Amino acid sequence: MRKNIVAGNWKMNNDLVQTESLISNLKNQTTTSNAEVMVAPAFTNLYQAKQALESSNVEVIAQNMHFAENGAYTGEISASMLKSVGIKTVILGHSERREYFNETDETLAKKVDAALANNLRVIFCFGEVLADRKSNNQEAVVESQISNALFHLKADAFKNIVLAYEPVWAIGTGETASPEQAQDMHAFIRKTLAAKYGSDVADNMSILYGGSCKPGNAKEIFSKPDVDGGLIGGAALNADDFFAIVNAF
Ligand code: 13P
Repeated sequence: MRKNIVAGNWKMNNDLVQTESLISNLKNQTTTSNAEVMVAPAFTNLYQAKQALESSNVEVIAQNMHFAENGAYTGEISASMLKSVGIKTVILGHSERREYFNETDETLAKKVDAALANNLRVIFCFGEVLADRKSNNQEAVVESQISNALFHLKADAFKNIVLAYEPVWAIGTGETASPEQAQDMHAFIRKTLAAKYGSDVADNMSILYGGSCKPGNAKEIFSKPDVDGGLIGGAALNADDFFAIVNAF
């Protein structure tokens, strides 16, 4: 079912002590928002974060995982390892994974399959780089990222997928896509899903926006009809800012 979601991606920030401190600040926040709230700490802090947020409405999620179930993949983490510490949702395909760790549509398709096979919900990220936007190629790029990694799935699988459109030129740059640019792309994504899977899948899909989302711009972005929430980087590292964004719903 289509839901409003605000998820904080902490990226490679916050050691254990900082994680505990941010979590205790998060627990002091009050909200009347109808959005699902999630935070994604580093792997090393997932267990602690999960324990600390057990009785709260904030879900602890993971930033990444490997597609293999186990084996000789030094430094990697499997779906079952995430599940063993109580994680139910994983971010896959973040542009930083694609850019710095060579994740391709092909490896992402395998990761999506492994996550779904393990009953994990996937927040699948994609988005064009600045050159694509300048050459007005953003829709073709996004369509190929989505279709290459997801369109082998059956319609039913989309119940466990959330999409996150993150234009790479807007991540960590202070430059946000305008609410209209976000709406245009989200509507295009929904139309692409409807063409392949029908309007049921498309209408029930939560599509998040990510890229320099802040307390000052969240309300306007989230007010757009096809924007169902945000994936928040920098502003998620401060509990007041993060909950100001959550409360934009
Ligand atoms: P910023 O909010 O820092 O631009 O990061 C967005 C992002 O990459 C979330 O995954």
